[in-house]
Amino acid sequence: MAKRDYYEVVGVPKNAGLDEIKKAYRKLALKYHPDRNPGDKEAEEKFKEATEAYEVLSDSKKRATYDQFGHSGLGGGFDWTQDFSRVRTDFGDIFGDLFRGGSFFSNFFEEGFGGRTSYQGGSDLQVNLSVTLREAAAGTEKYINLTRLEKCPVCNGTGAKKGTGKKTCPQCQGRGQVSQSLLGFVSFASTCPRCKGSGEIITSPCRNCRGTGRVRKIHKIAAKIPAGVTQGSTLRLQGRGDVGLRGESSGDLYILIAVQEDELFRREGDDIICEVPITFVQAALGAEIEVPTLFGKVEMKIPPGTQSGRVFRLRSQGIPNLHGYGKGDQLVRILVETPTNLGKEERKLLEQFKEISSVRAHPLIQKFWERFKHR
Ligand SMILES: [Zn+2]
Ligand SMILES: [Zn+2]
Repeated sequence: MAKRDYYEVVGVPKNAGLDEIKKAYRKLALKYHPDRNPGDKEAEEKFKEATEAYEVLSDSKKRATYDQFGHSGLGGGFDWTQDFSRVRTDFGDIFGDLFRGGSFFSNFFEEGFGGRTSYQGGSDLQVNLSVTLREAAAGTEKYINLTRLEKCPVCNGTGAKKGTGKKTCPQCQGRGQVSQSLLGFVSFASTCPRCKGSGEIITSPCRNCRGTGRVRKIHKIAAKIPAGVTQGSTLRLQGRGDVGLRGESSGDLYILIAVQEDELFRREGDDIICEVPITFVQAALGAEIEVPTLFGKVEMKIPPGTQSGRVFRLRSQGIPNLHGYGKGDQLVRILVETPTNLGKEERKLLEQFKEISSVRAHPLIQKFWERFKHR
């Protein structure tokens, strides 16, 4: 039978993004999951087909090869003993928790391939977090509501109903190893899928966690955001992801930072740029003005004769460098505002000023016209 196009199998267009592919595969995987279709060969085929397609399309390298050369580009097809990691990591929730505890397929994913022994460590999690520019500059503490797997409080993570124990695994008779043929593809000895190599199984599973030892819970986590984070900074909170089981380590929590735009300040590396408008009178006579900074405000002297566009540097009023290399500056760019909507009196005074204003007071204009004349 000719192989179907992977995009067709998953049901996405050729330019589909990873999220779209993930979504489409999740739907198919849930629909055709062997646990939901016991004994249905067609569903099993569809499930395998979709899983193979997902493994390729979710891997940017393999996908590029496939896009260019089709099935033949992937070197004689899909290796069911190796190429099976993405589904495990990306869909741990479907194939780990929902179906863990005795079903053939959950075990198949747990350890069927690659000779991997049962790993019950927690998965890494990622959350997005948006901070203001001020928070990015000063650092902050944020609370994140995180849904993660935690140790089941009823059975204390053992997966066994209170007061019940364990018995010898009937599938491997306590040896912890079985020889199995998986989906007719390969046959080899491997860790017993039923007891995960321990030789024992739980006699009656805990009802709270369906024997998995973990339950999904919303957890409030305090995250310290260091000063200096930038758009796209990723913070790693070790051990704050899904909780591991039976002594295995917990996953990590990754916090992906987005820094919001600010109305007053623009960031350039560790420097902050702020445009400050002043009147043309202040520009001419000089003034003391208040300038906002990320950390409050400062007094600034505008010298007499300041031109529009002039930039003043306020030392160390920028953003602390995330890697500890000092602090950026704030650059204040002066904008001289030409007055509009003049009142009667204002206009009168300006007319008077025009009469008496000298060439000497406007050297730029003078220079310009001299050059112009001599062309
Ligand atoms: Zn439990
Ligand atoms: Zn066993």
